[in-house]
Amino acid sequence: MTPDPETTPVVEIVRREEFSSAHRLHSDALTDEENRRIFGPCNNTHGHNYALEVVVRGAVDRQTGMVMNLSDLTSLVQEKVVLEVDHKNLSEDVPFLQGRVATAENLAVAFWERLQPDIETFEGCRLHRIRLYESQNNFVDYFGPGPAAARISSASS
Ligand SMILES: [Zn+2]
Repeated sequence: MTPDPETTPVVEIVRREEFSSAHRLHSDALTDEENRRIFGPCNNTHGHNYALEVVVRGAVDRQTGMVMNLSDLTSLVQEKVVLEVDHKNLSEDVPFLQGRVATAENLAVAFWERLQPDIETFEGCRLHRIRLYESQNNFVDYFGPGPAAARISSASS
């Protein structure tokens, strides 16, 4: 039965995973000198203990009382992201990150692209946000392509 949008509660569920990786902020589009100036010490290979939060939004199923089984979400996040990046050099060893500067911003976008198609296969679920902590005090949020990008372009016009 299709859930009634008027009466079905919509809830966000969150899975948090941690991983440790090395990276080096370096753009092939810039000279070595520009890379050193822009990225400073982050142009050298170094590491972070990352925390990733994956937020899925959906209607609470009447029968199961769940938006999506959190064990399914956990398996997906581990298989599609954590196993691919943990204890790796993000700037060299991860095929789906090839050609991207391994900033938190680019990682969040890449993780979205890895997870979104699988999450959409669960009925009524959609990926709402990727939050990636690069350190305790530094994190980025990505809400996917679309509304946020549209807001920026409309604000600048
Ligand atoms: Zn770093």
